[in-house]
Amino acid sequence: MKYYDQHLHTYFSYDADETFESYLENFDGFVVTTEHFDLANPVTHQDDAPDYQAYQKKISELNQQYQNRILKGIEIGYIASEKERIKDYLKDKNYDLKLLSIHHNGQFDYLDDFVADMDYRVILDEYLKAMNEAIDEIPANVLAHFDYGIRLFDLTVEQLQEFEPQLIQIFKNAIKHQLAFEVNAKSTHLYHNLALYDYALDLYLSLGGKLITLGSDGHKIEHFRLHFDELLALIKSKGINELATYQNGQLQLVKI
Ligand SMILES: [Zn+2]
Ligand SMILES: [Zn+2]
Repeated sequence: MKYYDQHLHTYFSYDADETFESYLENFDGFVVTTEHFDLANPVTHQDDAPDYQAYQKKISELNQQYQNRILKGIEIGYIASEKERIKDYLKDKNYDLKLLSIHHNGQFDYLDDFVADMDYRVILDEYLKAMNEAIDEIPANVLAHFDYGIRLFDLTVEQLQEFEPQLIQIFKNAIKHQLAFEVNAKSTHLYHNLALYDYALDLYLSLGGKLITLGSDGHKIEHFRLHFDELLALIKSKGINELATYQNGQLQLVKI
């Protein structure tokens, strides 16, 4: 099996219009989409949840047409105030892959423009607390874009290192819950956080972490498998020869 992109969105996500067919026709291996599930979303002032029935139906139709190459996924946006409703939504649904993310704090999304003018220490502190709590509360496979809350700050590694004790706590917790660390291509190449990933990946590995995934976070075909060659080379340079994939929630390691 060939490694496949494990962070993708289609029109089942509130902020994307891309079709499954676009991804399927540009790659001959598996395609998994990880659709946004963001309750109490301050961006849209509503609950954003993929229509599970319609998603299942579409995927089973496409699987007949595309040799069972499509897998079901979800990107769970954690927010403490909604944690019971999040668990309730997930309890009767099956996914191949579950990503765990923190996108907003109930008042604003961390990608809202004005966040760039806020104090990164205040934001990062609250964001990391939410991430640690999310790991404890929500069973998932992958800790997605660990840097989402600071994408707008252009932080240096030195600035991020001020939070190393919290990062160590989070990565230890992720390892305990068998959550993979995601290398997110949108973060590394569109938000220029490659150095932060280089540092964080080393930290995760130094703590005994072994599960790594690579995802483009593509919302359109132009970002599908974004800079994968370069990112795979970076991952391999750290002595990692297998990436984690998930089918029906079960870990399957794939050689890279
Ligand atoms: Zn996300
Ligand atoms: Zn995403």
